Amino acid sequence: VPGVTGVRALLTAERRERRLIAVGSGKGGVGKSTIAANLAIAMARAGARVGLVDADIYGPSQPRLMGAEDARPVAEDKQLIPIPTRYGVPMLSMGQLVAPGKALAWRGPMASGALGQLVDARWEGIDWLVVDLPPGTGDVQLSMIQKHRPAAAVIVSTPQDVALIDAVRAMDLFATAQVPVLGLIENMAGYLCPACGALSHPFGHGGAEAEAARRGLPLLGRVPLDLAIRTASDAGTPPAAGEGPEAALFAGIAAAVLA
Ligand code: ADP
Repeated sequence: VPGVTGVRALLTAERRERRLIAVGSGKGGVGKSTIAANLAIAMARAGARVGLVDADIYGPSQPRLMGAEDARPVAEDKQLIPIPTRYGVPMLSMGQLVAPGKALAWRGPMASGALGQLVDARWEGIDWLVVDLPPGTGDVQLSMIQKHRPAAAVIVSTPQDVALIDAVRAMDLFATAQVPVLGLIENMAGYLCPACGALSHPFGHGGAEAEAARRGLPLLGRVPLDLAIRTASDAGTPPAAGEGPEAALFAGIAAAVLA
């Protein structure tokens, strides 16, 4: 991706310690968790040592996506030990802190405390921690920005205006807090018909690119609405770990993020 400043280029001495990459979105359901999981795996395939934190209190889906649904983290000396996954990306999720199916009905301070436990877990030998944030601009995001100072943020949006308007708010939150926004990832960008292979644009076309350009940000990648991505994700086998065209797509996005 031309003109992309990736996280490596952004690392200053002050930021070197905490290598958090926040993945945010304006709305829920735009595929932020799917993108975060596949980005983390693609970065690991590119040779980086990557961990994944699922901080989405409203929909902690990373255990499912990473095929680690039954795992429960243990603590040693009050520090959580990340759970290894078969994709070489250890992970921790808000969802693993409570019994399965239970609501994470936490007030701000509790959610912030839980975020701290996940981020300050025993992430030994990790270069980058990809953090899947809840959608929007709430307590967890503020706590992430103020307490944990991410090295950079990536914003996921679908192409339609209603999603982009909120994605801009999310970008603005990071930009205002001087957290560099690496760029926008457009998800569900066109529908790839599994029967005939044709690409149509139910959610519109070109909006994310235009919005990114307006803000002087790169579009880091464009991921189509693709049945293979949904089925692989639900099965706990993220496409970035496979050999299909989706894997190449996520490899490209990881390269742009790591540049
Ligand atoms: P969010 O984290 O933004 O709430 P998810 O990552 O949980 O969104 O995705 C919502 C649903 O959409 C999931 O069922 C996921 O498998 C599906 N999905 C996400 N991205 C795609 C895509 N590019 N193609 C097909 N399905 C997708």
